[in-house]
Amino acid sequence: MALIQIAEPGESTTAHQHRLAVGIDLGTTNSLVASVRSGDVNTLPDPDGQHLLPSVVHYGEDGVAVGAKAQQFSITDPLNTIVSVKRFMGRGIEDIASKDAHYSYDFAETESTVPRIKTRTGDVSAIEVSAEILKTLKRRAVETLGDELNGAVITVPAYFDDAQRQATKDAAKLADIKVLRLLNEPTAAAVAYGLDTGNEGVIAVYDLGGGTFDISILRLNKGVFEVLATGGDSSLGGDDFDYEIAQWIIAQTNISDTDDAATKRSIMQQARIAKEALAEAESIEINIDVEGGQWQGVLDRSVLKELLTPLVKRTLMSCRRALRDADIDKADIKEVVMVGGSTRTLQVREMVAEFFECELLTSIDPDKVVATGAALQADVLVNATSVGMTLIGDVSLVPSA
Ligand code: ADP
Ligand code: MG
Repeated sequence: MALIQIAEPGESTTAHQHRLAVGIDLGTTNSLVASVRSGDVNTLPDPDGQHLLPSVVHYGEDGVAVGAKAQQFSITDPLNTIVSVKRFMGRGIEDIASKDAHYSYDFAETESTVPRIKTRTGDVSAIEVSAEILKTLKRRAVETLGDELNGAVITVPAYFDDAQRQATKDAAKLADIKVLRLLNEPTAAAVAYGLDTGNEGVIAVYDLGGGTFDISILRLNKGVFEVLATGGDSSLGGDDFDYEIAQWIIAQTNISDTDDAATKRSIMQQARIAKEALAEAESIEINIDVEGGQWQGVLDRSVLKELLTPLVKRTLMSCRRALRDADIDKADIKEVVMVGGSTRTLQVREMVAEFFECELLTSIDPDKVVATGAALQADVLVNATSVGMTLIGDVSLVPSA
């Protein structure tokens, strides 16, 4: 006997249709959205082919801009251009005043404990700013996939406490996204590599992004990833690499006014371009042409190594501490998952491999690995009846930081 199919207008009548869900990496520097289509998992590009959405929101005279469009204003209109908003999620006014004093936003006087940043279009909370980033990613997904979104898995750092997790959920709600679950970033990265279906044991996830370093020690036990320890440095990342290179450039030049904001920005930008190129090239030519003068020179890998070694050493000190907190011997780490754009730097890979004395997992693009794992998990959650698919357990045993 055939069942009669009843469909509301506009609703699909296909039975057992593959339901659409996405994974979202809501990052400090960059955010991404990924999905599983016909069994393949991919991050989704914008119409210009860019997969990474800079986590920057500009409140302009003619509306809100997000991503590269907003980034253009970070120097010319800094007070209305919100960067690194993730650092404020779930934080009270006191936390921000004490820990992030170098942020140059104007905070509004408010009765509530939730800080609000003054912009030309009114005060905004970190949740509202994050919601703009999420809305942009949702729009990208719906436009690319041409389908309604059933939900999303959004990733958060393993050390996020309840307030920070709740703030992330609230941002999703404002963006009209159904959160299937929040997933720890290191767990998502491990899932992307299929480690959840591999042998049980202890792994490390080394995540070096633009402004932050996170190390997580995870144990896979009966299909559940336990976070044994987390550590890192919330003010160490690729931006600091750029700064070291910029200082080196300045020392080579006789450019007069290196305190000028535009000159500084320009040199930092050249430094970043050179650094990223040296992941592929042996050496790179740098051309500086600013108000106070011009300079041409070459940066090669050996100089880069010298400049970056002290910074990478600092990340390894955090790794040593995390291993001690987890009560795990370095020799017990089976695999190290490399995450974050800055792990493309060869000096980082070499020193991390030497420290852990084991192979690094680098085959998945380190910017995309977290979103990839989140998408795999989202697909399982909305199509949970699929045969042979398992849910990833993800428990955090780390006391809230
Ligand atoms: P976050 O997790 O903080 O949002 P990402 O993982 O996107 O950050 O990392 C951004 C950082 O990665 C930036 O500092 C950027 O310069 C750096 N990066 C990107 N590509 C390369 C590369 N080829 N070599 C070195 N660093 C890179
Ligand atoms: Mg990241």
